[in-house]
Amino acid sequence: MNPELAARLGVLRPAALAEPLGLYLHIPFCLDRCTYCSFTTTRDRSLQPATIRRLLEEVHRWGAALGRPAVDTLYLGGGTPSLLSPEELADLTGAVHAAFDLAPLAEATLEANPGTVDLGWLSQARDLGWDRISLGVQALDDALLARLGRIHGAEQALESLALAEQAGFRRRSADLMVGIPGQALSKVLEDARTLAATGLEHLSIYLLDLDKACPLRAEIDAGRLALPTEDEVADVFEALQAELPRLGLAPYEISNHARPGAESIHNSRYWERRPYLGLGPGAASQLGPFRWTESANIAAWTRDGGVVELQELDAAEALAEIPLLGLRQHAGVDWPRLRSLATHQNLLPLVDAWEQALRQHLERGLLERDGPILRLTDRGRLLSNQVFELFV
Ligand code: SF4
Repeated sequence: MNPELAARLGVLRPAALAEPLGLYLHIPFCLDRCTYCSFTTTRDRSLQPATIRRLLEEVHRWGAALGRPAVDTLYLGGGTPSLLSPEELADLTGAVHAAFDLAPLAEATLEANPGTVDLGWLSQARDLGWDRISLGVQALDDALLARLGRIHGAEQALESLALAEQAGFRRRSADLMVGIPGQALSKVLEDARTLAATGLEHLSIYLLDLDKACPLRAEIDAGRLALPTEDEVADVFEALQAELPRLGLAPYEISNHARPGAESIHNSRYWERRPYLGLGPGAASQLGPFRWTESANIAAWTRDGGVVELQELDAAEALAEIPLLGLRQHAGVDWPRLRSLATHQNLLPLVDAWEQALRQHLERGLLERDGPILRLTDRGRLLSNQVFELFV
């Protein structure tokens, strides 16, 4: 364990025991690198055995250091967790059960790449207790998938959803990407309809994010490909917001739609500011007033844990996160409750200042009041950054 974190165990331990945690494990390996990817991952699979060994040690170390806290959501993300061998997956699952109290477990999600799954692997994951799967479909168009550097085609993506169902996953989610060069609005809608017709219960819509350097960014900068305009992307989001509820997938967060009762419990904890522990290269944690990110250098993390970026949030920063994250959710923010919390913390002037500034967003139709609840409107979800900048 990183010495900076070890020195704060006196605060971290009671925070971890106060309520059930979310536990995230990061598997930083992929068969190939997608052209838009900025996640902590590598194609160098030679590191995989040592990284998984280290991850097993960290699971045991953290479970013991925090007093075997209760965990109610598990998430195996990456990278490509479906690249784990059956033995590695069994070992990791066993380690989590040994080191943490999983009695309140309500959801265990694993991410998978449609290009790497077969029925045997999926069935074993299901037998080990993983009950929700999130598949990185991105698009159902082979040309666009090739442009993104995905290792699978459209047919394979649909096949993997069917295989997951066959293996016993009743809870299936897919990612769909918006803003890919050459992607037509009509095709995005067609893809959403095709995915909904598979009976999946959850759909995440992501905007292609090319902020960091990557091969696709270089193609665009060189003028060989063009991104859609902001207006075109806004049209796609608006059309999806109208179409997805008709398909039974209601919005519950800016990027996420689900059938009733099928919202991701693990992801919701991030927006509700409930505690989580992330283990693995680049994984993030939040416990008590502390938030940290582990080293994204996979070799350094595997060797000695690398450098941890640690941040202690003061009361004003923590309060600002309630609207910043809460407004992402369709349920919105209980404003009188926020005021009362601020009163107890002598931070009411801060909330008064927000209210003053939020007035213009209410007048412009980006926000709406519904009794005590303040939430983004459909238009506000498209322009959410204009609202969020107030709380940053
Ligand atoms: S599968 Fe995901 S993590 Fe791996 S390279 Fe592609 S986008 Fe990145």
